[in-house]
Amino acid sequence: MQRLQSGRHFLQIPGPTNVPDRILRAIERPTIDHRGPEFKGLGFEVLEGIKEIFQTKQPVIIYPASGTGAWEAALVNTLSPGDRVLMYDTGHFSSTWHKLATKLGLDAELLLGNWREGAKPEAIEQALSEDENRAIQAVCVVHNDTATGITSDIPAIRNAINRAGHPALFLVDTISSLGSMDYRHDEWGVDVTVGGSQKGLMLPPGLSFNAISKKALAASSEAKLPRSYWDWQDMLNVNKQGVFPYTPATNLLYGLRESIRMLLEEGLDQVFSRHHRLAEATRTAVQAWGLELNAINPSEYSNSLTAVVLPPGHDADAFRKGVLECFNVSLGSGLGRLNGKVFRIGHLGDFNEPMLLGTLGAIEMGLDLAEIPHLPEGVRAAMSNLVENKR
Ligand SMILES: *Cc1c(COP(=O)(O)O)cnc(C)c1O
Repeated sequence: MQRLQSGRHFLQIPGPTNVPDRILRAIERPTIDHRGPEFKGLGFEVLEGIKEIFQTKQPVIIYPASGTGAWEAALVNTLSPGDRVLMYDTGHFSSTWHKLATKLGLDAELLLGNWREGAKPEAIEQALSEDENRAIQAVCVVHNDTATGITSDIPAIRNAINRAGHPALFLVDTISSLGSMDYRHDEWGVDVTVGGSQKGLMLPPGLSFNAISKKALAASSEAKLPRSYWDWQDMLNVNKQGVFPYTPATNLLYGLRESIRMLLEEGLDQVFSRHHRLAEATRTAVQAWGLELNAINPSEYSNSLTAVVLPPGHDADAFRKGVLECFNVSLGSGLGRLNGKVFRIGHLGDFNEPMLLGTLGAIEMGLDLAEIPHLPEGVRAAMSNLVENKR
């Protein structure tokens, strides 16, 4: 049996994130009849409220599923067997979405990247320009690749699609940026946005989302991939009455209602600037330790997580194990080809300066224990950065 560790566990992986007490209390209520009179109030409030978080006036579908389900839903509702899809490899998450598309019978092309830079609008523009028959039906990009700590410039990619004059749908995964980094479904001209509950929304895992444009909805009436559970139209038909076609995750919806209220009480702009501040302080610490950020371009640094590259010969997983066992702090592992080489610091969701300093302090002690060469000034540098930003 594991020995008791007192104090709060720090869940500093980039999702699931720490669930705040307000949300835990909101979830801990009796489940109600999802077809009874009381439910509609909850249904309407979350279906309307979630639109503000996606910055859209268009419908948002809420699934009782992990993010992977909403990935699949975005594809099966808009595409037909054998359709060509263009994806961009920004890290493990984009390559996993690509595998899923291939399994569904789509002809999915993955533009290769180096996992240290975001999706390149020029490469997407070129691929679309070369598609003279307009066979590509969708472009899929991960806004914030959680494996690599890299953000792609969604408006720039929208402009690239427009410059190519290409009619493809634009599908974006914002699972680890929604509620942490500015994301605008309508203004940025995205057709389907995929979101999840367990990252910036501060909820437990188990809900995921599709925000859909009019163009995507029109495409769904022609799309031939088989779908039943994920069918948008079945959802939309009854969402109008504030209910769902099958049993929703009622208690997670209590939590979602509280999460939306919390994000709007703080104000989305404040939420985004808090994430920016905490991310900057994290990067300052990493650089002061003399360690390397996985992301190369400052304009693409993620504000929800930081992926840190360890010097060759040092095992990131052994380091993480030490930090967990000695200090009760969970850090994210390196995924895919970054396994063992990188560790990830989640700094998204219900998070503030003292929590960040606790996390960074545990990391600095862990670096000492693992005898990983570093300078001892990371936490101090982060504190100076945070103070500077408060002045
Ligand atoms: C977490 C995450 C996913 C996967 O979501 P699951 O809830 O694990 O299915 C997909 N994309 C991104 C960018 C993520 O961060």
